[in-house]
Amino acid sequence: MNKVLAQQPDAASAAAAPVIEFRNVTKRFGALTVLDDFNFAVAPGEKVTLIGPSGSGKSTVLRILMTLEPFQEGQLTLAGIPYHEPNGKGPFRASDRHLHQIRSHVGMVFQSFNLFPHMSVLRNVTEAPAAVLGLSRAEAECRAIDLLRMVGLADKKDHYPAQLSGGQQQRVAIARALAMRPRVLLFDEPTSALDPQLVGEVLGVIRNLASEHDLTMLLVTHEMRFAREVSDRVCFFDKGRIVEEGEPERIFTAPAEPRTREFLQSVL
Ligand code: ADP
Ligand code: MG
Repeated sequence: MNKVLAQQPDAASAAAAPVIEFRNVTKRFGALTVLDDFNFAVAPGEKVTLIGPSGSGKSTVLRILMTLEPFQEGQLTLAGIPYHEPNGKGPFRASDRHLHQIRSHVGMVFQSFNLFPHMSVLRNVTEAPAAVLGLSRAEAECRAIDLLRMVGLADKKDHYPAQLSGGQQQRVAIARALAMRPRVLLFDEPTSALDPQLVGEVLGVIRNLASEHDLTMLLVTHEMRFAREVSDRVCFFDKGRIVEEGEPERIFTAPAEPRTREFLQSVL
């Protein structure tokens, strides 16, 4: 067989291998089942937005990916690394070795910024790369300054979080997440805690990131216009399941499911 042709299917399937894959994942909080037999895959470089009513399980999906929550059944991989090794008799979570690997591939930006209040902006961005990746202080600072420049805050490097506006704090949080050079970046309602006049500057930074082809982004937001603009795919979530998904244009203009339509009417 022609060698070049023979290699193509391999290359194609490798390219199509999902960077995130939930298979039949069930997540419970006590008696409450939040994710029920949940299946979801994200391709490398894909930008996916989760929309849906409050309490439908969107944050739980991100928190599980960020290793902040274990789950009870099913399988989950990130860049092929499993989370689902049973930890003793308890719920499924990654082994310590895998946990370390997973955390080097995924970053998260929270609604409430979550910066370290007692550290300068620069320290916030250099801390993890220095401690976890073992970068020298100088290397970590060099990387941090570049990122702070990218989010427009290099001149604030010696400030403390409390001296910054919410929009500035969130931009630092984005720089901090990027400093680990993650393959996957998770955003959980990154602009919901901001005064309306500060939303635009944060969305602007995320919009620029969305043009990075290698970065896989999973975003929860109520900014529908923005979701439509930056996403390759929008998933409508309800009661722990994806009820409907598709290209943003189709989901926003011609939703097929009554529940999607109802939700969109309530927020648009
Ligand atoms: P969303 O982000 O879509 O608003 P969440 O993922 O935060 O939804 O929550 C899904 C459901 O799980 C909600 O009913 C919520 O009350 C419940 N839940 C979330 N976190 C916890 C927790 N730590 N303990 C108990 N219940 C929780
Ligand atoms: Mg949430």
